Amino acid sequence: KTLIKDGENRVNRLMAPGSRTRVLGFSSGKGGVGKSSVTVGVASALARRGHSVGILDADVYGFSIPRMLGAVRPPSLIGKVMIPPVRFGIKTMSVGYFVADDTPVIWRGPMLHKALEQFLLDVFWGEIDYLCVDLPPGTGDVTLSLAEYLPKIETFVVTTPQDAAERVAQRSALAARKLKLPLRGVIENMSYFRGDDKKRYDIFGKGGGESLAQSLELPLIGTIPIEIALREGGDVGNPIVFASPESEVSVEFMRIAQVI
Ligand code: ADP
Repeated sequence: KTLIKDGENRVNRLMAPGSRTRVLGFSSGKGGVGKSSVTVGVASALARRGHSVGILDADVYGFSIPRMLGAVRPPSLIGKVMIPPVRFGIKTMSVGYFVADDTPVIWRGPMLHKALEQFLLDVFWGEIDYLCVDLPPGTGDVTLSLAEYLPKIETFVVTTPQDAAERVAQRSALAARKLKLPLRGVIENMSYFRGDDKKRYDIFGKGGGESLAQSLELPLIGTIPIEIALREGGDVGNPIVFASPESEVSVEFMRIAQVI
C-alpha cells in the first residue's frame, strides 16, 4: 500500500504549493530546555492573536503536548481521516494519543516515519495559518523525515543561556543547516528569574542566546524568563498564555508571535 502516491485521496494540503500554512519548527540540542513549552507558548500566542493554529508533536519519544494542553480525548476517525483534538482553539496531533502515558515508545525508523506521514497526510488540519512542530531534541531520524515532508519548515533553535554557552544548541543548529532546514532564529528560554524584589536573577548565566544567535548569524527572536506559573500551567494543561496573559512570559510570547 503506497501512502504518498495516493495523495489525491488525502486531506492534507499543508505541503501543497501555494498553501498559506506556515510551518514553524522548534528544535533544541538536548531535552529539558523548554522546547515543548516554547512550542505551546508561541502556538497559544498565535491563537490569541486570532490565527488558526495546529501543533504537531513530533517529539515522538518524549511527547508532552497532550499533557501541556490538557488534551485527553483521542482523535476521532472519519474513514481514514483523523480529526485532531482541539484545545484552546489549537488542533493537536501526538503519539501520546495512541499510547498510555507509562508505555515507552520503542518504534524503529520505518514505523516512526509512517506515523509522522500519517500525522501530516491523514489528519484534517484544514487551511490553518500556522502549524507549530515540536521537534525531537537533536537531529535524528524524525527530523530527517519531517524535512522531507515539510521542506518549507522554518526552524527556531530553543536554548537556555547555559546550553548555548556549552554549544549544545550550536551543534544541533549546524546539523539542521547541513540538512538544509531553513533556520529562522534563536529563542532563549529560562533567560532569567524575576524575584519578588523585581530584580533579574541570571540563574543559568547571561547572554548565551545572544552569542549563539550571533555565531549562527540568526536573529535572537525572544528571551523567555523562568516563571513558576509556566511550569504549573504545563503540568495541568492550562498554558500560561491563556492562564495568566498579563505575566512577563505571556507578554513575551505575544511579542514573539507578532514578529515571528
Ligand atoms: P523540552 O521540550 O525541551 O524537553 P519542556 O518544555 O518539556 O522541555 O520543559 C521541561 C520542564 O521545564 C517542564 O517541566 C517545563 O514546565 C519547565 N519549563 C520550561 N521552560 C520554563 C520556564 N521558562 N519557566 C519555568 N519552567 C519552565
